[in-house]
Amino acid sequence: MLILLDIDGVMVPTTSWKPTEILSDGFASFSPRAVNNLQSIICNTGAKLLLTTSHKSRYNNSEWEQIFKTRGIIASIHKLEDNNDNLNRREEIVRWYIMTNISESFVILDDDKSLNGLPEYIKNKTIVTSGTVGLTLEEAETAINILRKDELVKA
Ligand SMILES: [Mg+2]
Repeated sequence: MLILLDIDGVMVPTTSWKPTEILSDGFASFSPRAVNNLQSIICNTGAKLLLTTSHKSRYNNSEWEQIFKTRGIIASIHKLEDNNDNLNRREEIVRWYIMTNISESFVILDDDKSLNGLPEYIKNKTIVTSGTVGLTLEEAETAINILRKDELVKA
């Protein structure tokens, strides 16, 4: 199982009135609630992370795992290929879907509203978060259900 994960607007709520706190490793701190909610998806499903965030190229996979670990999330982390063609998030995800021919179940967590324009078979695995709130408990529960349902269909 796979979680396609954005960071800004999912793990880091984006607020114009409050500057984002940067930790000593140079990356933004995560919302404690979003951390709990993401960790609960991982604990309940064993899903791995596939980073879609525009920050993805800044670190390699093991550096990302350390950044997440420092923020309370233990996970196996991979990332989408670098976005050298300046695709929008929707186009990046469609490209990934076509290139990988994915067979395991997945869910997409992202605040990017361009994802509302995804083809239906991907959109029904997509949760568009509110960027100023970040990942909520209800969204985490929905994500677990999406991952499990697709797993059952295949079994
Ligand atoms: Mg975002």
